[in-house]
Order: sequence, then structure tokens, then C-alpha cells
Amino acid sequence: MVVGELSQEVELLVIGGGPGGYVAAAHAADLGISTALIESAEIAGGVCLREGCIPSKALLHVAKIIHEATHAEAFGVSFGAPRIDLDKLRNWKNGVIRRLGTGVGGILKSRQIDHFTGRASFEDSRTVRVEGGDVSRIKFKHCILATGSRAKTLPEKVLPRDCYWDAAEALALKQIPKRLLVVGGGYIGLELGQVYATLGSQVTVVEALDQLVPGGDADLIKPLAARLAKQFEAIHTGTSLKGGRRISGGVEVVFSVGGKERTEVFENVLVSIGRRPNSDGIGLENTKVAINEQGFVRVNAQRRTDDPRIYAIGDVAGEPMLAHKASKEGKVAAEAIDGRPTVYDPAAIPAVVYTDPEVAWCGLQERTARQQNLDIKVSTFPWVASGRAVAMSRTDGLTKLIFDAKTHRLLGVGIVGAHAGDLIGEAVLAIEMAAVADDLGMTVHPHPATSETLGEAAEAAFGRAVHAGH
Ligand code: FAD
Ligand code: NAD
Repeated sequence: MVVGELSQEVELLVIGGGPGGYVAAAHAADLGISTALIESAEIAGGVCLREGCIPSKALLHVAKIIHEATHAEAFGVSFGAPRIDLDKLRNWKNGVIRRLGTGVGGILKSRQIDHFTGRASFEDSRTVRVEGGDVSRIKFKHCILATGSRAKTLPEKVLPRDCYWDAAEALALKQIPKRLLVVGGGYIGLELGQVYATLGSQVTVVEALDQLVPGGDADLIKPLAARLAKQFEAIHTGTSLKGGRRISGGVEVVFSVGGKERTEVFENVLVSIGRRPNSDGIGLENTKVAINEQGFVRVNAQRRTDDPRIYAIGDVAGEPMLAHKASKEGKVAAEAIDGRPTVYDPAAIPAVVYTDPEVAWCGLQERTARQQNLDIKVSTFPWVASGRAVAMSRTDGLTKLIFDAKTHRLLGVGIVGAHAGDLIGEAVLAIEMAAVADDLGMTVHPHPATSETLGEAAEAAFGRAVHAGH
């Protein structure tokens, strides 16, 4: 039911209910700011909940179980070939989304945040028009823009849109294709490629640059690439699609490998070549908000845009496009609106590729430090020397620390290995607390645990790691 214009100006309107928007709204309400949130989708939670972080991790969990069960044969335990009930798997994954969606709804409700449904666009710097919702217009004193991002598409002349899935369509789990082509070997391509490979697809990846996850440290990507080389039918780096078309029973694509053109047929194609901010089509031209060349909204350290009433957070406000970065920015924006002297200035934002093995890093990467000619000391600890890794039969791991050569202050950490994403939290805290190598080395880690590799890598920097070779 459209009730028309809200009679009162809301103190804070948050546009978009993703991990940026709903966290900003909850934090603002906790600070005593009267807050409303508008979200165009039926449930709040954003891309992260509906078609991103959560469903992909649910499916990766299943993939991991299948993989581990299959490999348990080496320990003398066999379960037989997995039988996959796709309907049940899909329902379970959707159930996870519903459950967490209800949780987000509860977070908003318990704080008396007015939750409107509809698509908002700016009429001016203090008003949004709402389409398809329960109100037609909302006036605000402050606004936090958290409209997120959407998948980039290939040019139609390279591959028409009806020839491929984006991540959301792949996560819908309609079928398990016999052969799946993944275009783009970044986060999504590898996570979902691994899911489909484990569910039974023969997966080929084409990646334009010369390394999978090009933003990641080569030493960390190596063990992942080695495992994927066994799981996938083919991985072609330095390769782009030349063209493709739908044919009966699949999609015919042309790409060149090693200078030679190749034509192959796949049942489905997943295109995961990055995401673009949702800053267009929302009336920003009616405000003073500025956007940069990539379409990201320009913000200051408090996440305030060029329009003093409007803040922007999350994917729409710039890289890295990660849920926890969006949430942190949301808290900063809410505090700034509350008049607090806050800034967004984390010393380290963790990045985790949730493949198996997981790849996680935070702070300065070795490559960046070398490009900047920084005086650094790099120390590594291979997981072959970790008792826990050997006990799990998962020695395909490496922990890498980057220190300031003079002060020994920890500047960056990278980890590849089983559950690396769970280990990186300690590293983020260490960097935030300005830890030096001795802080990590002198910290007593539980045994046997892969977290010991953080302490050992710190000791290894000075030739004191008991379990590392001299
Ligand atoms: P979003 O989550 O995109 O939310 C924006 C919301 O705004 C949406 O709900 C949208 O419906 C709504 N909206 C848009 N326009 C309007 C409008 N005009 N009016 C009203 N509502 C509007 N990140 C991680 O950190 N970890 C992961 O494991 C991870 N996995 C991912 C897996 C996949 C497959 C994908 C696609 C992404 C993944 N990400 C992950 C990235 C993560 O999803 C995003 O960084 C995060 O969702 C950004 O949060 P946000 O609040 O900025 O925007
Ligand atoms: P991505 O930037 O991680 O990877 C895209 C890859 O596609 C890059 O390696 C790029 O070189 C390649 N590429 C670009 N154009 C190409 C082309 N024409 N042909 C072949 N390769 C091409 O992007 P994504 O995987 O689409 O994910 C989008 C974003 O979502 C990520 O950058 C990340 O911010 C977020 N995300 C995070 C997680 C996580 O935190 N675990 C998981 C999924 C997505």
C-alpha cells in the first residue's frame, strides 16, 4: 500500500540494507539517532546475504565436506561416491539466507528503525522519491548511501548476456553443468568454480592476467593454483574470450591460448570479471554528490560526500568491495552524523578468498612494499613444519610476515592454507595494535594449531623458529 509522502523529515535515511546499510542504521539507532532504512529487495542483508558472501560460503562448506570425505580414503576411511540431491541442497542454502535475513530484520525492528521497501532515487539533497514501495517520497536530514554494486558484464559483441550466468545466477543452483567455463579467475570465479567442480562439473577458467587472483601475493596463490589444477579441467591465465554464441546444448566460445585460437563448447558459462558501483540511475545528478571515473562515490575520511547531508559507504564508495569494510564505514558514517570525531582509517582490512585452501592477507603486501622501496624483512613459515597441518594432511600452506626491517613492526601478513581466513584475525589485531615481531613470537599459541605458524614465522625472521630449518 502506498501511503504517499512521509509527513515528517527523518533524521537519518539509509538507502540500501546490505552489510554497509543495515550496520550503519543499527549503529546510528544505538547512538540515539532516529533512523529509517529503505531497501528495494524483499529482505535486507544486501548482495552479501542474498547472492554473495553467505550462499557462496554455504556451498563452499558443502564442497569442502565432499572433498574431505573423498580424500579420507587415504586414511583408510571410505564413504563411497557422493549422491547430490540438488533440490535439497538448494533449499538448505536458501534456508540459510532466510534465517539470516530474519536476523537482519530483527536487528532493525528491535531498534525501532523504520524499514521501508522500495527503490529510492534523489530528487534533491534532502528528498528521495520511492518507486514500488510503501511510501512515495521521504525527506531526510542526513542520508547514508549504501546501494552496493552489481556484476560487470562482457560486451554483447564478445558474449551476449543470455549466454552466461553472473554470480547470482550461479548461486541459484539450477543445474550442475557437465562443462562450465568460468571467465575471470578472481574471488568469485575460483570460489564458485571450486563449488561446481566438487559438485561434478568439469571446470575451465580463463583469466585475463598472468596469475589467478592477480591482487594476491604470488607465494600465497601458488598452493591454491596447484590444488585447483588438480580439481579443474583447465586453467588458462593470460587469456581473454574473443567471442562466443549460444548453440544447441550450450555455448560455443573462442579464446586464444599461447597464441593459438581455440573453440570449445560448454554447457554453461559463469562471468565473474569484477563488479561496478550502483551509483547510476539514483538521481545523484540532483545532489552535489560527485563520482569518480569508475563510478565510485567520492567520500572523505568520515565517508561524507561532496554533498554535506549525504554520506556513502560500502561497495558504492570504493574498493575493496568487501562486506566488513562496508560495515566499518557504516559505523564511521553513523558516528560522524552523531557529531563524533571519527575517521575511517583501519591499519589493515583483511581479505579472504574462501577457496580450499583459503588465501588470506592484510596490511602491506610484499609486492607493494618492494614497489615503494620500503626497507622490509620478509619471513615465511611453511606448513609442512606444522604438526597440526601434518595431522590434518593439509601441509599445502604458508604463513608470510612482512616487518619493517629496522623497527620490526609488523606491516603485513599473508596466509594460505586450510582455514587461513580464521587465522588472519590475529594478524589484523596485531597490525592494529602496532605489534613488533617479538610480540607475535612471544605470544603463546595453542598446540597443535595452525596459528602457531604466526609465532614461528615471527621467530623465523631472526633464525629462532624451533620448527623451521636453519
Ligand atoms: P550490498 O550488499 O550490495 O547492498 C546494497 C543494497 O542496496 C542491496 O540490498 C540493494 O538491493 C539495495 N539497493 C540498491 N539500490 C537501491 C535503491 N536505489 N533503493 C533501495 N535499495 C537499493 N565480501 C566479503 O567480505 N566476504 C565474502 O565472502 C564475499 N563473498 C562474495 C561472494 C559473491 C558471489 C559476491 C557477489 C560478493 C561477495 N562479497 C564478499 C562482496 C560483498 O557482498 C560486498 O562487498 C558487500 O555486500 C557490500 O555491501 P554494501 O552494503 O555496500 O552493498
Ligand atoms: P575480482 O576482481 O576478484 O576478479 C575478477 C577477475 O577477472 C580478475 O582476476 C580480472 O583480471 C579478471 N578479468 C577481468 N576481465 C576479464 C576478461 N574479459 N576475461 C578474463 N578475465 C577477466 O572480481 P569478482 O571475482 O567478480 O568479484 C567481485 C568482487 O566481489 C571482488 O573483487 C571482491 O571485492 C568481492 N568478493 C569477495 C569475496 C570474498 O571476500 N571472499 C568473494 C567474492 C567476491
